[in-house]
Amino acid sequence: MNTDFDVIIVGGGPVGLLLACLLKKLGLRLRVLEKRTQPIAHSAAIGITPPSLQILKKLGLTQEFINSGLKVRDCFVHGQSGKLGCMSFRDIPDEHSFILALPQVTTIAILQNHLGAEWIETGCEVREVQQHAGHCVVRAGQREWTARHVIACDGWRSPVRQWIGMKAPARTYDLHFVMGDFIDRSGFGDEAHLFFTASGSVESFPLPCGQRRWIVQTDTHLDQPPQGLVSELTRQRTGIDVPLADQVNESVFTPRRFNCERYYDGRIILCGDAAHGMSPIGGQGMNTGFADAEFLAEIFSHGDPSPLLPAYDRFRRKAAKAAIFRAEWGMWLGTWHGLMPSMLRDLILRFLLGRESIVKRMGSFYAMLTIPFNTLQRVPQASLKPHAV
Ligand SMILES: Cc1cc2nc3c(=O)[nH]c(=O)nc-3n(C[C@H](O)[C@H](O)[C@H](O)COP(=O)(O)OP(=O)(O)OC[C@H]3O[C@@H](n4cnc5c(N)ncnc54)[C@H](O)[C@@H]3O)c2cc1C
Repeated sequence: MNTDFDVIIVGGGPVGLLLACLLKKLGLRLRVLEKRTQPIAHSAAIGITPPSLQILKKLGLTQEFINSGLKVRDCFVHGQSGKLGCMSFRDIPDEHSFILALPQVTTIAILQNHLGAEWIETGCEVREVQQHAGHCVVRAGQREWTARHVIACDGWRSPVRQWIGMKAPARTYDLHFVMGDFIDRSGFGDEAHLFFTASGSVESFPLPCGQRRWIVQTDTHLDQPPQGLVSELTRQRTGIDVPLADQVNESVFTPRRFNCERYYDGRIILCGDAAHGMSPIGGQGMNTGFADAEFLAEIFSHGDPSPLLPAYDRFRRKAAKAAIFRAEWGMWLGTWHGLMPSMLRDLILRFLLGRESIVKRMGSFYAMLTIPFNTLQRVPQASLKPHAV
């Protein structure tokens, strides 16, 4: 049957847009359907890791990303007993020896611009996806399209995942955070600083354009935090003055984790946060989604992607599992409350950060260089041949 498109991508977040750019390069007929009409109001994902910069190279976008962002090479860790050490990305074995700090809204803007407005339908909320023997039907209001495949990049709530009944057993952590971007007067420059204190964590990351993100742990989930909470908790826990008058935006989050039982069902494929969820504290969700997109583009390059969908499911689910675990582990260690646990954490971190060989490995670990199958290059090439599956 003739279809309107080869692929419809539901969701024009960072992962859907990157995937669209990669599929467009293959010459596929596609459309991105995105319900939003306005950009997101907060900075969300800010850390772009070296494997993602490799993926962006395929689109010739790495330099544009680097020019728009800020290179973070050092991350200082502070505990109850003062400075514990520094984790550096300077010596990681990659041509990009840094984490690029770039607000998600800028990532989206660059990808949208590269893709071209005519490939995206904004203000288009998909309400139904049906699949038939050789095609899918997608409906949004009165409008209807057909496509050979539908790729759900519609975020962690993923309506598409729910419509196909894909199980995604989730766990919500009893850990809560409020974050705000501020005009940066800290004097920290391009350094990241983590403060693990007895009364909760404070994390601080530089942003381009003279701003800095501050994330404070709170005891409960606060839908509407009292005004000035980020400033107040930062001052109490670190002694650093982050004036409320300098605050640009604010958001709250309570992390959760899940990894779908399967990343596809027939002609409907899940990608990015629709397929997996992990704590933002690890800074890996979008990067994991970028690698999903790269993998999918590869299997669509063979024509019919169906024979390689089991490989997509197997490799990308393994990669997400590792990222979910690492994000959880990092968040868990940083959020121990109370004086005794804090002193114990200080001992552990002082020991780890005092060993050069360990610090080197930590750099690669947090830069996602050691995530299994973090880019297509790390996937056994034989697994990417349709007849091999
Ligand atoms: C505070 C915070 C900090 C983070 N920091 C990092 C970080 O440093 N590094 C990192 O890698 N990750 C980070 N993350 C995670 C990252 O933000 C997500 O992993 C990323 O946004 C996932 O991208 P996505 O495109 O899969 O989904 P989303 O960004 O959620 O995009 C989904 C899109 O689908 C659209 N949509 C949904 N339903 C429909 C529908 N029915 N019809 C049409 N459109 C629809 C939505 O409007 C949205 O635009 C962070 C997250 C948070 C909350």
